[in-house]
Amino acid sequence: QDPALTLPKPPDDGFVRVRGARENNLRDVDVDVPRGSIVAFTGVSGSGKSSLAFGTIFAEAQRRFLESVAPYARRLIAQGNTPHVDSITGLPPAVALQQRRGAPSSRSTVGTLTTLSNSMRMLFSRAGTYPAGAARLESDSFSSNTAIGACPRCHGLGIAHTVTESSAVHDPSLSIRDGAITAWPGAWQGKNLRDVVSELGHDIDTPWRDLPKASRDWLISTDEQPVVEVTPQRDRVAKPYKGRFWSAKSYILHTLADSKSEMARNRALRFVDTGPCDLCGGSGHTQAALAVTFAGHTIADLNGMPLADLTEILRPTAELATATAAISSASSGEVTEVAVTIAADLLARIDVLSGLGLGYLSLARKTPTLSPGEMQRLRIATQLRSGLFGVVYVLDEPSAGLHPADAEPLLVVLEQLKASGNTVFVVEHNMDVVRSADWLVDVGPRAGSGGGDVLYSGPVGGLAEVEASITRPFLERDPDIRPQRPVPRPVAGCLELTGVTRHNLRDLDVEIPLGVLTVVTGVSGSGKSTLVSRVLADAVREGLRDRGSQAPVEPELDTDGVEPTETEATIVSNVTGLEKVDRLVRVDQRPIGRTPRSNLATYTGLFDAVRSTFAATPDAVSRGYDAGRFSFNVAGGRCDTCLGEGFVTVELLFLPGSYAACPTCDGARYNAETLEILYRGKTIADVLAMTVEVATAFLADVPAAARSLATLGDVGLGYLRLGQPATELSGGEAQRIKLATELQRARRGHTLYLLDEPTTGLHPADVRLLMTQLNRLVDSGNTVVLVEHDMDVAAAADWIIDMGPSGGDAGGRILAAGIPATVAEHPESRTAPYLAARLA
Ligand code: ADP
Ligand code: ADP
Ligand code: ZN
Ligand code: ZN
Repeated sequence: QDPALTLPKPPDDGFVRVRGARENNLRDVDVDVPRGSIVAFTGVSGSGKSSLAFGTIFAEAQRRFLESVAPYARRLIAQGNTPHVDSITGLPPAVALQQRRGAPSSRSTVGTLTTLSNSMRMLFSRAGTYPAGAARLESDSFSSNTAIGACPRCHGLGIAHTVTESSAVHDPSLSIRDGAITAWPGAWQGKNLRDVVSELGHDIDTPWRDLPKASRDWLISTDEQPVVEVTPQRDRVAKPYKGRFWSAKSYILHTLADSKSEMARNRALRFVDTGPCDLCGGSGHTQAALAVTFAGHTIADLNGMPLADLTEILRPTAELATATAAISSASSGEVTEVAVTIAADLLARIDVLSGLGLGYLSLARKTPTLSPGEMQRLRIATQLRSGLFGVVYVLDEPSAGLHPADAEPLLVVLEQLKASGNTVFVVEHNMDVVRSADWLVDVGPRAGSGGGDVLYSGPVGGLAEVEASITRPFLERDPDIRPQRPVPRPVAGCLELTGVTRHNLRDLDVEIPLGVLTVVTGVSGSGKSTLVSRVLADAVREGLRDRGSQAPVEPELDTDGVEPTETEATIVSNVTGLEKVDRLVRVDQRPIGRTPRSNLATYTGLFDAVRSTFAATPDAVSRGYDAGRFSFNVAGGRCDTCLGEGFVTVELLFLPGSYAACPTCDGARYNAETLEILYRGKTIADVLAMTVEVATAFLADVPAAARSLATLGDVGLGYLRLGQPATELSGGEAQRIKLATELQRARRGHTLYLLDEPTTGLHPADVRLLMTQLNRLVDSGNTVVLVEHDMDVAAAADWIIDMGPSGGDAGGRILAAGIPATVAEHPESRTAPYLAARLA
């Protein structure tokens, strides 16, 4: 018998008790939090909230879970993922819902992520209306993602590449001999094809446009592949050979489908028109599936419409009181009990999504196009239906991306999770959410080594007694901590866009004042990001390119960050005022690099100064070590075992790979000789291990480094280590690093800065720091445009553009534009009342 079963259990009084937590910056903290309640973790960015909630409590729950499913993995797991903590008692299993971008798989959709698609398929299979004589289809037939449900032409992708005369022939004045069929391969292959065509009796010396239509059509798109004996025309030496004909279309489609060469496939894409598959109309479904309807709509129709509209179609069925037929008739099951049951279930689940402000999404929307906040809310809503109870949900800022008007339903959902017997931990900065929690754990007081203590753990109201807490005044709405409103600044002209069309923006006209700080507000899905991150960015980038100005410098361009997949292009009929902008910078939350090789020091460029400083020490000079010797990215000075990474990857049988410190350099990244060089008593590895704050003092005599370090401190990142890998940084930290890099350039000018929800992940105290920096940019002549939900930020703006009135097709308009006081009085705007409250 397992001895553990016979040991007395510790008394269980309903608390999770953490003892001696030392993960990252935590200072041996003890904390008790009640189960079955909503617990908010607060503190400035870098204080240690995540280290406690995710790094300690969730990590330990996860470790225990893995251990229980695979006891023999104990030893392996113990190496990597054991949090530094003495003990945790009363800990239930935990589920973490963190903000992450959607899986890169382009087939994952809102419907598959939420599993609503399963129910939709069931609805059509069991309760759909079938054409006379058609057999009932099983539910997999309604998925474009299965072998039997995928459109045979596009394999379920919904898109088709077509090769047409205009896509394959770029200059119809050329003859075939001169290369009219641009899509054909070049060099000898192309020459062979021309010989084959000539042998087949086509005129290869007449300009393409003068050839008979029948010939042109055949050459472009036939599937036939005649083989002819070719006598080379020019090259007398070559022997006759058998040549196969490829039409432009078969050659290109063959290359796209079968070529192993990325370059060949990319070339081929230049000769295709990409559009919806004409067989399935872009839905990816089979004809048989598309012949089945529910309430007069196909499954493709229902998948493509906003969830809010879908509910209106399902509601009559869900509320049907007279569902009499026990089984469906041959042609329709729409009035059966099965239909009512499935429709009611769908309705209830979709209502939760709508409640979380996501009613504008469609089931077919691809998850890689969703924002991290939208993703997390989808996951939260899905959990409500999971039927799990007795677990701890650990959430990362669930209010991210939510308009204040939508915070209320979020709280309701969190309450529901609790009511089903769960515990909810939220790392949160939104004080409205924090106020409604049952319990508060405030971590701090400051970031990094200045934090790591639990200042308070108890009912929310009790924080009022804790003088040292930076959170306290914000929770209490102390009037002293309001962001100072700047003196209104004069507008320096205007950027005017007319006829803007993209996503839900339809023929919109918009004016962006220059030389001031503008905040774009509106409920989730109203079109803020589309306007700022897509339309404005595209229009200004295009404009700058046309003007032949030097390519705009965008910090994110030197990363390999990927744009979410996009199918739509921006249409703008006219732009004026572009001449007053000479540079565009998007400061977004995309990572500053995807490998641990890029870090804070390399990204900001301050590492160059550090390396030169080490290369200039007398020891380095006498040994002939140059700055390159101190790089961990090139051979020479770096550790040869880990190639400068500082760690090695350990592949664990069934677990994702995890990292262990390099056995040779023990994480230092450099070889022993390099580490013999000291600057003021420290090795280069020691410097990488310093926080920005410590390094500011240490490198005070190195002007280039000192400037970078000062700006990093100014944006509140003093707690980060110089060598902190890009992969360990949160989106908010990445964004502030980009901002600091910009600030350190400190140039006056007419740069347009675009930021999408820069306050995500920021404590209200950090928001104030950020605003100070943004105002500094504006005061030196630049323009800042941000998308924001934080009403303190909006209230402090020079100008507000409020979008709405709702999300999706019910949005996309500019409801109000003006100074905050004007927008606050708008009768229809959902932002107005919240703004008015802050201005009061
Ligand atoms: P918060 O959630 O309050 O913003 P974190 O718990 O993320 O703070 O970070 C607390 C401290 O631990 C910070 O100084 C941060 O730089 C550091 N830190 C975070 N993650 C790691 C890590 N993986 N390795 C080392 N230090 C880390
Ligand atoms: P907001 O920033 O105000 O939350 P968005 O600009 O993200 O709003 O979205 C506006 C509308 O455009 C919504 O209906 C949304 O579903 C749609 N949309 C946004 N991004 C995409 C995309 N990549 N593909 C398709 N539709 C999109
Ligand atoms: Zn198709
Ligand atoms: Zn090494």
